[in-house]
Amino acid sequence: MIRIVWLLALLVQVLSFRPTRAQSFDFQQDSIFFRKLADDVLTSPAAYESLRVLCKTVGPRLAGSPGMYKSEAWAEKALQAAGADKVWKQAVQVPHWDRGGKDEAWYQYTDASGKKVKVVLDVLALGNSMGTGKNGLLKKAVLIHDFEELEKRKEELKDVIVIFNNVFNPRNLSVGQSYGESGAYRRSGPSRAAKYGAAAVLIRSVTASANDNHPHTGALAYDTAYPKIPAAAMGLKDADQLIAQLKAGKLVQVYYKSMAHFKPDATGHNIIGEFTGSEFPEKFITVGGHLDSWDPAEGAHDDGTGCVQSIEVIRAFKAMGYKPRHTIRVVLFANEENGLRGGNQYAKEAKAKNEQHVFALESDAGGFTPRSFGFTLDAAKLERIRQWVPLFVPYGVYQFANGGGGADIGPLNRSLGTPVAGLSPDGSRYFDLHHARNDVFEAVNKRELDLGALNMALLIYMIDKYGL
Ligand SMILES: [Zn+2]
Repeated sequence: MIRIVWLLALLVQVLSFRPTRAQSFDFQQDSIFFRKLADDVLTSPAAYESLRVLCKTVGPRLAGSPGMYKSEAWAEKALQAAGADKVWKQAVQVPHWDRGGKDEAWYQYTDASGKKVKVVLDVLALGNSMGTGKNGLLKKAVLIHDFEELEKRKEELKDVIVIFNNVFNPRNLSVGQSYGESGAYRRSGPSRAAKYGAAAVLIRSVTASANDNHPHTGALAYDTAYPKIPAAAMGLKDADQLIAQLKAGKLVQVYYKSMAHFKPDATGHNIIGEFTGSEFPEKFITVGGHLDSWDPAEGAHDDGTGCVQSIEVIRAFKAMGYKPRHTIRVVLFANEENGLRGGNQYAKEAKAKNEQHVFALESDAGGFTPRSFGFTLDAAKLERIRQWVPLFVPYGVYQFANGGGGADIGPLNRSLGTPVAGLSPDGSRYFDLHHARNDVFEAVNKRELDLGALNMALLIYMIDKYGL
């Protein structure tokens, strides 16, 4: 009897046995490598200095603009200086949207004493928007809080300027979510208003609670079914004042003038630098950011930081004498902001050449303190590489989140199924300067920038060593 009980107990034990997952990496050896890489990156002036040169000698670099060509020359030089084995340019036709000078706007209303009041607005035409012509538009303003109200009041929108009160929601824990929600009015608000006959649209800048009045531009996407009406973003202080007058029931007229227009497409380039793999030279790991930036700023956080962090991966590996097994490709993509032609072209050529892409990583969320990586990757594989997280924690990355990537590497994921990830830094300050004139070199902190570059290099090292 005792023997049977013992056998049963043994059986239960055997059946309930779950082997502890074999560690799929060498914690001790890898943590030593992490430490050495950190010593190199955190003491190197390279990435920060390279960013300074990009911001201060190239500056704005929208697709097709003179800055685009200057930035391409900067990128080639920076990749060569980092020690890339091979630097080359991948040509792509890019749109050339031109602001056409300074955008102008003001509004007027009659105050309680019967006096006419005129107030100037700080505005920026939205990227890809049409201009008004040199005379501008002077129209009645109608305040619309959201798309639901737009539909309810569609009869009132003929020949007016729609003012969208697209507040950036501070309750969301992810600022990216607030950006997506508020940004919907920038992307599709103009066409949705045009559907009901509006003459133009002004939105609140898609930004959090910046203590300034800088307008934030960014791309709109016209629905070709409706007239392409002019559209601009207002600085938040100006927007608040205008909206307060409208909420108070005042009859307000808004003047808006923009000379924005498209020029013929131009030939731009993805600038690519490679560190040839020692074991699998024909298998690629891509790391990148986008080289273009909006016209009013230096494009420091968006996305100069992503560019120099990516270049830093090659520089640091070379400096340490690390020889990657796969070919590491740094790609500085063309035209992310108003077309994504660079990202599309990169994926298109990869597919046409039947290239093998192991993984792609993008940094395009600002050069702030890194917090996590977001992966678009098979669930079981993500689960496996999550065992690496304790290695990253001392350097600031505490999570490998499910979902993420980058606009420029999205096409690679969609057309080749390449696993992708994006660096997710702390986003609290990003939308204070995103697409605005205050996105300048001085807004970037060297250590935060370097920590981002370091974590990117660490992730590339682990994937290069162990695969996915
Ligand atoms: Zn960007």
